[in-house]
Amino acid sequence: METPTRMKPIQMVDLVGQYLRIKEEVDAAQRRVIESAAFINGPEVKEFEKELATYLGAKHAIGCANGTDALQIAMMALGLKPGDEVITASFTFVATVEVIGLLGLTPVFADVLPGTFNIDPADIKRKLTPKTKAIVPVHLFGQSADMEPIMAIAKEHGLYVIEDNCQAIGSDYAFRDGSKKKAGTIGHIGTTSFFPSKNLGCYGDGGALFTNDDELASKLRRVCNHGSDVRYYHEVVGVNSRLDSLQAAVLRIKLRHLDEYAAARNTAAAVYDRAFAGIAELTVPERSPNSTHVFHQYTLKVSGGKREALRKHLEGKGIPAMIYYPVPCHLQNAYKTARFAEGSLPVTESITHEVLSLPMSTELDEVQLEHITAAVKSFFIKNQ
Ligand SMILES: *Cc1c(COP(=O)(O)O)cnc(C)c1O
Repeated sequence: METPTRMKPIQMVDLVGQYLRIKEEVDAAQRRVIESAAFINGPEVKEFEKELATYLGAKHAIGCANGTDALQIAMMALGLKPGDEVITASFTFVATVEVIGLLGLTPVFADVLPGTFNIDPADIKRKLTPKTKAIVPVHLFGQSADMEPIMAIAKEHGLYVIEDNCQAIGSDYAFRDGSKKKAGTIGHIGTTSFFPSKNLGCYGDGGALFTNDDELASKLRRVCNHGSDVRYYHEVVGVNSRLDSLQAAVLRIKLRHLDEYAAARNTAAAVYDRAFAGIAELTVPERSPNSTHVFHQYTLKVSGGKREALRKHLEGKGIPAMIYYPVPCHLQNAYKTARFAEGSLPVTESITHEVLSLPMSTELDEVQLEHITAAVKSFFIKNQ
């Protein structure tokens, strides 16, 4: 199989291609901000917060500096104290667990479901103790965790729920009665990241928090702003975490395209699904019955110990493929504890040996998709 000569090089995510389609608008918006010199908390930030809240159907959206800060600010605003236990997934990007550690809270890991990779509500129940104060479900790879049973557990035990929605912005969660809400707007607080490669990414760092609770919204704004409501008067210990006006200006433009971006990702995912349907060693991403998928990642499970060989085979054909995540948080040197020794989270540990994410972006074209799917198929035909 030859690499088509006029094919655009394949990247995990093509941010330049995406920029070129909105270049004029973005360049004009950047110039507007620079010429106004309203770099901090200017009108672009206020407008973006309003537009994001409207898009999500949330009462409040509050910009901050990045998705990691958003999680930390949420935990600070809820008044979580050292020793409090926070139940979350170990199969996540480390930031979720890092902020729990930074604040002196105790991370308690629940296992995930093998199909959707999202936190297992039944295991959350098993991990409850009198010290549990909050649950942090992570909406991994683009689908919402199953929020309805999680909210029921939280209500029964008086717990806070912070949704780490860094990877699933725009996805819709469906309750059992058919009603829908956007991922990130169901718990007490939702958080997101605008890291460039996220589904709604800016051109640097950025993040946001969402809530429907007016009092919590004020607390979140206060924590973001040095613990202050009135300049030079500080009510609580806070941080300095702001969304930059230049980034907000980019995000206002990209937010208008977010649903179209999700559709493009779903089109690529459908091509992958069809191509891999007959390959016994591959499991295509399971679709949750409770959530639409926005494909932050298209993550296969490769069985039979063939993952590394497949990855190398693809690399040889100019196709990057990534392992998100090779080591779960509970087995990282920084977060190892006796309670969560190897073997304590069997599903999490087993999938870390099988997952492989293929290139996924809004810019994948038919030629590239054909090259990728043919390369994957040729590996399995050769290795039968
Ligand atoms: C990206 C990400 C974060 C952190 O976001 P930053 O903006 O990079 O700080 C946190 N949690 C999850 C699940 C993420 O994917």
